[in-house]
Amino acid sequence: SSKSLQINEKTLSDILEKNKAFYKEGKVADYIPELGKMQADKIAFSVVNENGKVINVGDVNQKFTIQSISKIIALMIAVTEKGEKNVFSKMGYFGTDKPFNHYANLETTGKPLNPMMNAGAILTTSMIEGEGDIPFKKILEMVRYITKNNSIDYSKSVYNSEKETGNKNRGMFYLMKNNGLIEGDEEKLNNYFKQCSIEVTAEDLAKIGYFFAHQCTRFDGDTTYKNAEISQLIQSQMLTAGMYEFSGEYSRTVGLPSKSGVGGGITVSVANKIGIGVFSPALDEHGNSAAGYHMILDLVKQYNLSLFQ
Ligand code: GLN
Repeated sequence: SSKSLQINEKTLSDILEKNKAFYKEGKVADYIPELGKMQADKIAFSVVNENGKVINVGDVNQKFTIQSISKIIALMIAVTEKGEKNVFSKMGYFGTDKPFNHYANLETTGKPLNPMMNAGAILTTSMIEGEGDIPFKKILEMVRYITKNNSIDYSKSVYNSEKETGNKNRGMFYLMKNNGLIEGDEEKLNNYFKQCSIEVTAEDLAKIGYFFAHQCTRFDGDTTYKNAEISQLIQSQMLTAGMYEFSGEYSRTVGLPSKSGVGGGITVSVANKIGIGVFSPALDEHGNSAAGYHMILDLVKQYNLSLFQ
């Protein structure tokens, strides 16, 4: 392969220091009350380089909930089990100008726009086979596999908080049930809440980014799930809708498949090169990490990482 980017700890800490104040321009999500407890100035920046080596700076041990980044893992599992055709017969490949929790297009075409917004993600998880919380357990096990981190678990307090307050998601779930897209009861929705509550670090996110950047090969070279079709699908969805209604502008400025979550994490895949994981919990108006975005942007500029160079 071509010569290494030579990203090191100093590179990352310089970028982190330069951008950490951006958290002041954002706001920690509190529509899920338990998320509002996160300290706003926590920040971490991780890269898994071309050789699978981890480089970490900032609050490297800080755990936060994976939230919507779990949607790419759920999509991988649903497509593996049911096939892409089947999954996308129930939802679109569309981009969006709508926020992540919008009901589009449940009341027009009847189908969610894509698997990255909540409606499509709830539907995707409902398609994973298994009774009760088996679908959730498959997602958790896949996150543990990709990160090689068996200590990863979900936060029961965030899960309960989401379940108690997630009536908008519950509404979508029932509308999709009404539209004939979902069979089964609220257990299926609870799996979605649980997957969002999985706790990770920025390093774990960098490993997820690396995995999809390398045809689903793990950072240590393990090829158990190697599949170029799946990684292409996942990265294409990340690029078109991973940052929700900001995805188009983000493609212009960053130009890389990325997925954000309201916990403040973002994972980025640089095809055949590196994985990036960032964490800073204060979010911009689109629900994407404010400082996280700026750190990614600086790294991309410094190393000419955009797909569109
Ligand atoms: N659990 C969150 C929700 O359903 C996930 C949203 C997100 O991370 N954008 O609202």
